[in-house]
Amino acid sequence: NLTNRLSRVVKTLRGEARLTEANTQDMLREVRLALLEADVSLPVVREFVSRVKEKALGEEVANSLTPGQALVGVVHKELTSLMGGDLGPHASELSLAQQPPAIILMAGLQGSGKTTTTGKLARWLAEGGHSQNGHKSGKKKVLVVSADVYRPAAIEQLKTVAAQAGVDFMPSSADQKPEDIARNALDFAKRHHHDVLIVDTAGRLGIDEAMMQEIRALHALLKPIETLFVVDAMLGQDAVNVAKAFNEALPLTGVVLTKLDGDARGGAALSVRHVTGKPLKFVGVSEKLAGLEPFHPERMAQRVLGMGDILSLVEEAQKAINVDEAQKLAAKMKAGDKFDLNDFRAQIAQMKNMGDMSSLLEKLPAQFSQAASQVDSKQASRQIRRMEGILNSMTEMERAKPELLKASRKRRIAAGSGVPVQEINRMLSQFEQMQSMMKQMKKGGMAKMMRAMGG
Ligand code: GDP
Ligand code: MG
Repeated sequence: NLTNRLSRVVKTLRGEARLTEANTQDMLREVRLALLEADVSLPVVREFVSRVKEKALGEEVANSLTPGQALVGVVHKELTSLMGGDLGPHASELSLAQQPPAIILMAGLQGSGKTTTTGKLARWLAEGGHSQNGHKSGKKKVLVVSADVYRPAAIEQLKTVAAQAGVDFMPSSADQKPEDIARNALDFAKRHHHDVLIVDTAGRLGIDEAMMQEIRALHALLKPIETLFVVDAMLGQDAVNVAKAFNEALPLTGVVLTKLDGDARGGAALSVRHVTGKPLKFVGVSEKLAGLEPFHPERMAQRVLGMGDILSLVEEAQKAINVDEAQKLAAKMKAGDKFDLNDFRAQIAQMKNMGDMSSLLEKLPAQFSQAASQVDSKQASRQIRRMEGILNSMTEMERAKPELLKASRKRRIAAGSGVPVQEINRMLSQFEQMQSMMKQMKKGGMAKMMRAMGG
């Protein structure tokens, strides 16, 4: 990735005062290769690199930096800007300011994630997640409808998703015309005072004139305030052509980039933004309905740069970790108390709360996520459940004084939790590792640990 590539050349040439053709040449070549590796399409890469060069040449290099470090700064800034940072802080917000119902039309190829995203968005709006910057503008009454008449299973799929999201579903059937479905749904939404109507549509496996015509007709009829182009991040370079076709066929208002929980490095975000000029509004990060996040240009820039999406990682962890528990633990550490198996159990419970570990691990910097990708997350959660079983089979006293755990007690606990004694020993040695880490943390302080993590 870019960080690895750049760090090789970033250290050279200390002591130069300005960025020049000569001292940026190697770096710019690495930038170019890294972007191609991140699946940004070639013409976009070319233009980006020439933009960076233009901005960089003549820039002063601050005293403490090498020209390489200064150039990374320019790259990061420019990448953030092109990802949508140039559109201002509100670009990724949905517009719902319309005489209700505010209509959202979903467009994209088959399999891009339209139906799933319809459910995710519906849930997000119904829960009031659209209220930005802490201003709660309230939960929305949402209706969803499927105009996918080619695959009866698609209508069923949306019905299931709507039930999971807890929003209203307008039945439709494969023998109706898409436009009739849309008209009925709009009429129903008006009569029942829905705030938002989300219209899911059919997609084809490739770009297809009949599909484009159909969705154009739906657009003309519904006059949606949002027309969202849903695109699979795994398409990589091919995302360019698909985005171009949809952008020419429809007045898009925004983009949703799905399946970012996979291997995609996010280069498609840059390409799609480049060809459509439209803001990315959301990213899909899991198959589950909770796996939708507002788009953040600077975070996506960091992902492409391979620096890891630290910001959203921290945010996600904060959401998941029970603040009370964490504070109790911190207070205990400060008081110099011993970290015991009761604390260990609390930590394991928190790990479980963090939910889909794989989406979390994905956001770590490359050197960590490489290791993390070798962790089977299903296996890991099975392991966590077994550890909890063991801990629950102990008495409070045993957890507070692990040194009590001699052979006979271990045999009792093994029988109680249905695991072999070796597994208890394995867990105890993991606990001891954690205990010594806690001691070090207390000695060295949090700052030291964070620095170690930051590399
Ligand atoms: P549609 O044909 O455009 O309606 O696409 P679907 O919503 O049916 O999604 C196609 C497949 O992609 C399904 O298996 C979804 O579960 C999956 N999917 C959609 N969004 C995401 C995402 O953000 N992450 C992951 N991992 N899978 C997704
Ligand atoms: Mg669908």
